Amino acid sequence: DMSTKKHQMIVIGAGPGGYVAAIRAAQLGLDVAIVDKNKVMGGTCLRVGCIPSKALLESSEKYEEIKKQIGVHGINVKGVSLDLGKMLKRKDKIVQGLTKGIEALLKKNKITRYEGNAKFTKDRTVIVESGGVQVEELEADNIIIATGSRSATIAGVELDSERVDTSTEALNYKEVPKHLAVIGGGYIGIELGSVWRRLGAEVTIVEYLDRILPGIDSEVAKEAHKLLEKQGMKFELRSRVQGANIENNKITIERRNGDPIEADRVLVAVGRAPFTANLGLEDVGVKRDDRGWIIVDDDYKTNIEGVYAIGDVIPGPMLAHKAEEEGMACVEKIVTGFGHVNYKAIPAVVYTHPEIAAVGKTEDELKDEAVEYRKGKFPFIANGRAKAIEYAEGFVKILTHAKTDRVLGVHIIGPHAGDLIAECTAAMEFGASAEDIARTCHAHPTLSEAVKEAALAVEDRAIHM
Ligand code: FAD
Repeated sequence: DMSTKKHQMIVIGAGPGGYVAAIRAAQLGLDVAIVDKNKVMGGTCLRVGCIPSKALLESSEKYEEIKKQIGVHGINVKGVSLDLGKMLKRKDKIVQGLTKGIEALLKKNKITRYEGNAKFTKDRTVIVESGGVQVEELEADNIIIATGSRSATIAGVELDSERVDTSTEALNYKEVPKHLAVIGGGYIGIELGSVWRRLGAEVTIVEYLDRILPGIDSEVAKEAHKLLEKQGMKFELRSRVQGANIENNKITIERRNGDPIEADRVLVAVGRAPFTANLGLEDVGVKRDDRGWIIVDDDYKTNIEGVYAIGDVIPGPMLAHKAEEEGMACVEKIVTGFGHVNYKAIPAVVYTHPEIAAVGKTEDELKDEAVEYRKGKFPFIANGRAKAIEYAEGFVKILTHAKTDRVLGVHIIGPHAGDLIAECTAAMEFGASAEDIARTCHAHPTLSEAVKEAALAVEDRAIHM
């Protein structure tokens, strides 16, 4: 028999949503506990998501650049070869280092850590289990569920953790596949497909829709498709996958419309689903929608008093920074009564080459909603810095309200798009007009000048075009 440990707040899940919420709560003076069933802090994002994928994207991009493109600079390199083991180790080391960083932050903020699976037994009480054994019982005034998500699966395609598996395994293939088939043309499939294509695999993206990157502005997605195809990535669109059969070391992907596709490795990247298994939600009656997401109100409250949810486990874009914003806002609302997430200005980035970044409404959405809008577009080919760094692909597109000139959305495909979108997000956060961006002095020569020029282009007055 063990006594129940009391805290003012318990956070379940130490991903970017959970650990940020815990730190914010500690900053605001609460006695906080955080529970994660995984020994390694940082959640999906740090362990098997954002960070390891970006580490491999960087390494593989360097490899391809040195192998194929460095010659244009007048640099001759011979005998380039791949040490995949070392590349994977570098990635692991980065994850380890950042994990230690989170542990140190939790410690600095005097947050109590519990390792194990948290499960509700009654309102505001959870037990922590490890190896099937109950190790603690915890109680708190406020409990935040931040249990994140897992890879979604597809009917007919069984995962075997060896040849047919998910993004988690694709961060760790011990050898470069000969032919990697990626089921799903979303950002995770395209990013990891890019990694393995650069390292030498033939890569085919098999997508159900007639386009890649659902959710991304269709003009940008079209440009991405064209550029990725030029790099050697193959696309099989309008392909409804029905099964994957392994025979003689070959995998055959069956699809409803079209010939089967043969591959020797399959990455299932058909999206992510909220993760609430073994959480005991049924026992306390926390409501979920028909697709499994926990239902919350504007204050992240579930239907149970004192129980909140944030991040991938609630509806909305499944992104680390969205989870973090919600973690902060949820805690601030609980402690101070005020907190804020602006869902109209959440950037999204695809870390391909070139990068793709977006904030606000897509042109497709504006058309659907019959909003009167204007459009300013500027290509990187007319940007001096882009030429100087030999990376003059893509464009910036700014969409504004036709009457007020207010920026409604910005869509970038091109060099460092993910960094360029920050300015546009800040502009939208401040309710800027295209005129505001156009009248802001941008350093020369920088890629950000393409943003300014696109703002000028809204009124058809770009200088360098
Ligand atoms: P998670 O990070 O999923 O963390 C949840 C934690 O809860 C986990 O550690 C889990 O072990 C723990 N947990 C679950 N149930 C329990 C329980 N009952 N008891 C105790 N602990 C529990 N997003 C971006 O913004 N940028 C990117 O570049 C990006 N790249 C990605 C690449 C890949 C390959 C993948 C898979 C995802 C990527 N994402 C990216 C998405 C990002 O990882 C998620 O949006 C983010 O991790 C969500 O954070 P979270 O805190 O809600 O949940």
